[in-house]
Amino acid sequence: MNSIANPDLSRRQFLGASALAAGGLSPAFAYGAASAGNLRLATFRYEVTPPMGHSLCGGWIKPVVGVDDPLEAIGYVLLGSGEPIVVCVVDWTGLLNSAHIEWRKALAEAANTTIDRVTVHCVHQHNAPFACLDAEDIILKQGDLPHIVEKDFFKRCLDAGRSAVQTALKQTSPVTHVAHGEARVSKVAGNRRIIGLNGSVLSQRGSSSRRPAHHRYPEGLIDPMLKTVAFYNGTKKLAACHYYACHPMSYYGDGRVSADFCGLARRQRQEQEPDCTHLYFNGCGGNIGAGKYNDGSKEMRPVLTRRILDGIVASEENLQPQPIESVRWETHDILPPVDERFDEDAIMQQVSDHNQPVRNRNRPSYTVAWIRRVNRKVPITLSSLHINNASMLHLPSESFIEYQLRAQATAPDRFVACAAYGDGGPWYIPTADAYPQGGYAVSVAWCDPAVDQILSGGIKELLTRIG
Ligand SMILES: [Zn+2]
Repeated sequence: MNSIANPDLSRRQFLGASALAAGGLSPAFAYGAASAGNLRLATFRYEVTPPMGHSLCGGWIKPVVGVDDPLEAIGYVLLGSGEPIVVCVVDWTGLLNSAHIEWRKALAEAANTTIDRVTVHCVHQHNAPFACLDAEDIILKQGDLPHIVEKDFFKRCLDAGRSAVQTALKQTSPVTHVAHGEARVSKVAGNRRIIGLNGSVLSQRGSSSRRPAHHRYPEGLIDPMLKTVAFYNGTKKLAACHYYACHPMSYYGDGRVSADFCGLARRQRQEQEPDCTHLYFNGCGGNIGAGKYNDGSKEMRPVLTRRILDGIVASEENLQPQPIESVRWETHDILPPVDERFDEDAIMQQVSDHNQPVRNRNRPSYTVAWIRRVNRKVPITLSSLHINNASMLHLPSESFIEYQLRAQATAPDRFVACAAYGDGGPWYIPTADAYPQGGYAVSVAWCDPAVDQILSGGIKELLTRIG
């Protein structure tokens, strides 16, 4: 049944056809009259809490000794605009390389779609798995290193994902309207890189800090806005996707699994509105953390949770549902080169050096995983979901905040919401300007500075193809 009043179908059909002829774009984005009333949404969630003893954050912090609150994967399947579109967000530190591809494949199979129409993101909590199957293979060969991710647990998560999607698809709802809103979040985000007089990073302001100088120093470049895009069936809100850029840790390293303040805020909102599925995406938070306002004490976790929840609620106050008139899914593949600082043989020698601490052996295995992936020419897929004048951008890894701000500036007439922490293979993605400044993020950025142009170009491509 067509529930959208639409006097202008023939014109839109014509525009769709001409765009195809002009741009040679995938027909999958086309959303014409035939499907105007056939959009449907299925939401799903499944638990991905690691078992006792499982490694956290790659194995160099304390493994699981208990669970303060569970980790979840939450998502939706959008049907009726070409092959199904799947969007999923996971309470893990990261999903990298083959792990990210396997996760998408499992959801794609369950939704009967192709992997290029599935995007998966992490919230990036650190008392959580940091899953790279390729790095796991590298450290397994060493015989004496803690796991990066246990493969049987990972497989159970894929199975849980498949069955959650299959179950969800038995209960879909029509989607007729979309809305967006935003609100300023108070006293959470601050830029992590404090630049000194010589133009390089003087100090890294982490997720928490007890140094008064870190609290005094200004927030610096951040995106203070929490953005929301929500899907409706008439006036009934079905799903609300929230986007805010900040490392999400209040404290970590104690072996106690938690979705931490961003995940907890999402869960509180979920409890307030049990009939709407709430999703929380971390934006381009690579150089953003809570250390300006957070001293890492236990008392601060609920305080930060409240600040994010207030942002979510305020953002949703602005929601004004509009009939859905267009839906487009776009993708753009990139394969940024490895930085020449990283040499596989030299890194493997370090991984094999039994005198080195775990951090200095497990962490470089992620570098090698990225080098081998680039050699195999397996690209990262950027994607965007454009609905009316809202664009949801799906970006990789620990991208710096500048990418999100540039995306918004590139499309000033659109509402641009960014989810980063997709495929985590490259670790940090600084801007080209940030490389000579040094600092922690640059030291663990596996890509050459050319990644700036490549990623910026990809974002521009996704935003300008809309026409
Ligand atoms: Zn990080």
